[in-house]
Amino acid sequence: MTRKYWGRPCSATGCHKQTIGHSKHCQTHRSVDRRWGHPLQAPMTKGELTRLSKHVTRLINSRPNSADLWCKLREALKQLKREARAVVAEIKPGFPVFDKEAGPNLIILQTLVDAEPDKVIAAMIAIGYVAGIDRHRFKNDDAYFMAAGRRLYLLSRAHFEGHINPATGKRHFVCKEPNSKNVLAVGRKMMAAFGAFGLRLALIEERDERHADDVRKAPLMALSSP
Ligand SMILES: [Zn+2]
Repeated sequence: MTRKYWGRPCSATGCHKQTIGHSKHCQTHRSVDRRWGHPLQAPMTKGELTRLSKHVTRLINSRPNSADLWCKLREALKQLKREARAVVAEIKPGFPVFDKEAGPNLIILQTLVDAEPDKVIAAMIAIGYVAGIDRHRFKNDDAYFMAAGRRLYLLSRAHFEGHINPATGKRHFVCKEPNSKNVLAVGRKMMAAFGAFGLRLALIEERDERHADDVRKAPLMALSSP
């Protein structure tokens, strides 16, 4: 048994806790790394994403060709579902859940069967949008993909297990912890389809705001010129 890593300080910046097992991180930072793709990544909360989703929906709806945009976005999502269904159809009983292709596509298919399509689209675009308005929001690419993958995973009832609380007798649902490699792959697929759209939306919004600002300042500029 090797003790190479045991008892070393955690390698996350500013953390003085000791590492556990063979990880280079302490327990806290190891779990944040697994969940969010980077030990120091601030989680994307449901509240933050709901707010951002509403905002990007408003931005899309304010475009003159919004009906056509929604039509194309829904078609892009349907395409992902078709592709996932084709891969899942090939799965044989007893396949490994960490299978590179099967695992992520199973998550995508399970989610897209019962999640509202426009909700999925807005959430994925919101991740791209937030990366566009704040380049420090995600520590690295993995953190960006993990935020998208985790959100998609949580959008489906299929990933929650029902338990009866013995004290109250009420049923409550707990999310099954997904395989991080699968979630990362899901995030990559979703962002390949919707990430750039969100980034572009952020750029257009910035450009429109600059223009509005120029119009507001125009009288002042005219006053200064001869
Ligand atoms: Zn730590």
